Formats: sequence, C-alpha cells, structure tokens
Amino acid sequence: MPCLPILFWWDTEDFINPESDDALHLLLLEHKKRGIPGVFKMVGRKTRVLLERHRHDIVELLEDDLFEIGYHTDGHSVHPTIAEYTEHCDWQTGVSEILRRESEGLDITREAFGKEVLCYGQPGASYTPFVYGAMKVWGIPAYLGNAVYLGDPCLPSQIGGLFSLAGLHSAHAGFPARLGDEGLARAKARLEKLADSLPRGSLVSHGNHPNEWSLETWWDEMNFVKGNCTPPEKYVTGPAVAKAEMHRRIGLFGEYLDWLTAKGFCPVSLRQAFSLVDCGKGRLDRDDVMAVARKWAPGDADGYYDPDRRISLSAAQCVHLLARALAHPDARPFSVLPVEAPVYLEALETGQAEALPPARIAELAAMVADRIEKTGMLPSRIQTPGLPALSPARLGVAVARQLCLPDAPATVGSLRFQPGEEVKTYGKNVGPWSIHRPDFTGENLRRYTQLLAWSFRRMFLKDA
Ligand SMILES: [Zn+2]
Repeated sequence: MPCLPILFWWDTEDFINPESDDALHLLLLEHKKRGIPGVFKMVGRKTRVLLERHRHDIVELLEDDLFEIGYHTDGHSVHPTIAEYTEHCDWQTGVSEILRRESEGLDITREAFGKEVLCYGQPGASYTPFVYGAMKVWGIPAYLGNAVYLGDPCLPSQIGGLFSLAGLHSAHAGFPARLGDEGLARAKARLEKLADSLPRGSLVSHGNHPNEWSLETWWDEMNFVKGNCTPPEKYVTGPAVAKAEMHRRIGLFGEYLDWLTAKGFCPVSLRQAFSLVDCGKGRLDRDDVMAVARKWAPGDADGYYDPDRRISLSAAQCVHLLARALAHPDARPFSVLPVEAPVYLEALETGQAEALPPARIAELAAMVADRIEKTGMLPSRIQTPGLPALSPARLGVAVARQLCLPDAPATVGSLRFQPGEEVKTYGKNVGPWSIHRPDFTGENLRRYTQLLAWSFRRMFLKDA
C-alpha cells in the first residue's frame, strides 16, 4: 500500500467534566510517545478551565512542536451558538458578530499555548459561512472539520483563499471509543476501506473528541440540547466512564496507532498536509482560457475548472480570466489571481434570457476584469447604464459564448447552473444538530455558502 497521509484532529471542548481533562492528557501522551502529530481544536472555555484547574501537564504537552492548535469557538454549544447568532445575518454583520463574540477565546487560546492557531472547525453541525471572513481577520489559514458543507468529498480544497479540509466526507475516519474493543475493530476496518478506495491526493481526516473516552454520552446534550440553556451553577456532569475502563480504552487507541503506522499509513501535521498540495499552474496561455470558455459557454456546467491535475480555478477566477481574454485579445500569459467570492445575494440572481450586442459584452468584460484586478473580488452584480443588472454567472456565460463565437450576439440568462448549487448544508444532506433551537433552519447560511462557492478550488498533490 502506498503511504496514505492521515491527519489526527481532536475537538477539545468539554469544559464541564474534569475527567475529560484526564482523557486529553492521556491521549496526548499516546501521541507523544509515538511521535504522532495531532491538531487540538480548543474551545475557548476549555482553555480557560485547563488554566483554572492548573493543568500545567496538559498545557506543557500542547506547547510541544508535535502538536498544533486550532480553534473550536469560545462556547461550542452554549446558546446562541455561532450558527444561531449568525442565522439571519448578511456577510458583513455575520463576520463582525463572530469577531465580537469569538475573538477573546481565540486570544486566550493563542496565549495559553504560546503558538499560532492554525485552523478553525465548527462545533457539531453549527456551521456558518461568515467564519471564513473572520478567519482572514484572525490570520487563521485553514478550516478543519468533518461535516458535509462546501468542498470536495475526497480532496483538500481552497475556499476564500484558505486551505480547507471541510469537505472530505468520503475521507473521514474516527475511533468509536465508546464501543470499546468493538470500536477498535471498526476503526481498523474503516481505515482499510479508505486505503482501498481513496483517490491519489486524498488524505484521511481523522477526527475525535477526548471526551469520547471519559464520558458515556455527549457532555453538551446533557446541558444544551434543543436550545436549552443550562446556567453554569446547574451544569449536569457525567455519566463518566469508570477510571480503569477509560485507561483501558485509551490503551486500545494506542494499539490502533501502532497498527496503522505498521500498516503504512503516514501521520502528518496540518502544516505538512498543507505543503503536500497546491492548485497547479499560476499562469495560463490563451488555449487554457479558451478551454474554460468552452466549458462555460453552454451555461450548464459547474463553475469551477479543474479538468486535470495541472490547473485548478475557482468559478470567480474563471470569470476574471474569461473577461480578461475578451477585453484584451492580445494578452498573454494570463495570471491566475486570487479572487474573492461576491458577498451580496444578488449574485445568485439568474434573470431572464436576453441577447446582448457583442460590443456591449466586450465593454462589460473590460469593466469587470478591471474591477476584479483593483478590488480582488468578484462583483455581486454588473450594472451599466441602459442595461439590466447581470449576475456574475450570466456575464461569465455571455463572455464565454462571445469568445467561442465572436460574431454572434450572445444570449445571456436561462442558466442551468449556479456555482454552489451542490452546496450541501442545512436541509441538503446535513441533518439538524441536536443542540440547535428547534426553529433553526440555516437557510440563509446555505445561501451565503452558495456565494462562497464562487471561491472553491480543488487542490492536488504537488507531484501528481
Ligand atoms: Zn465540537
């Protein structure tokens, strides 16, 4: 079996039960004695209680270079959760609410372990697209989580220019600790199946929680289920796993680590995972851009472009390159620039079909290419005097048709695609989270995720 990279990450979140500190400590030691890296995504409140309970043993271990630190929100399941308080926000208020409520826990986490926070991952199924905007302000370079949102099922990707391991639902594994010996057998079987089925360039995203070893159920379901907000003085603890049994189950996890390394799996850190992949060529020739135009012209393909492992473009980058190619016929080579997704929902507008004269399309293309180069962002709508507003998808298709058939007036509209149509969150593949208020739907968050999909790019193994 060729070496399959495996990235271990731990959602470290139970700030109520001290037994979960002990589980965390023992699991860190299992990693440490084998030199196996791990990412510990800390909840702000968990970091605080580790300091309050004087767990210097844990803090010291987490300071070790073997371990990387992530952020998992300040309160995890405490209401309102990150998805609840951003549920009805627009882009700007969503990002600023997150910065206002979550920055303190992040700062405490950074200081406690004396190192950079390398990733963010949502609590449970409390996903919100606005966090990508907050991550840029915080300087957090990667998204790491296991739910099915935006991303490729098997490959790392870039979203909003950040490294994302948020899709990967076909490459996800974990250790079902509460099943004891049966859990070890199942975890092994899952990894063997992944080794046989994953395409080249995948990595196994291996997620668990230390509290799965210390508690027989979920700590947050005991306190925060269905919008329930237990006050701190009434927090319900347990049911704890008996101490000897916890030690035994952690021993099984150690056995698993020995087994998987002997099998040839290659544990990697997040930094190593990041260095393994990229998005291919940064400069394209005209033939490459014409191939993008042929994909876009029918108006029914998904928006991004990655036909082979040589080039990978987001839909926003496709619009930029198409517009540039039409506006500047002699331009070459074409630089692939980072282009941010649009932030207003108008960008999802599909509009009525209409024919536009070639000269007007060239004019709009020049304007849009110019604007993207100045702002680094795809506009949410393209408006010029005398013409109805066009969404970026409609403009992209019109420009692609013009490039393919230069003399015909291009018809825009009646698109059969929209980047992000495949977004699977809230109501599509992602079930409700037990912690969320019963009236939470996430529909608005799904729509903003569709916008974010304009910046989605698959990443490939560098030497593939
Ligand atoms: Zn969590």
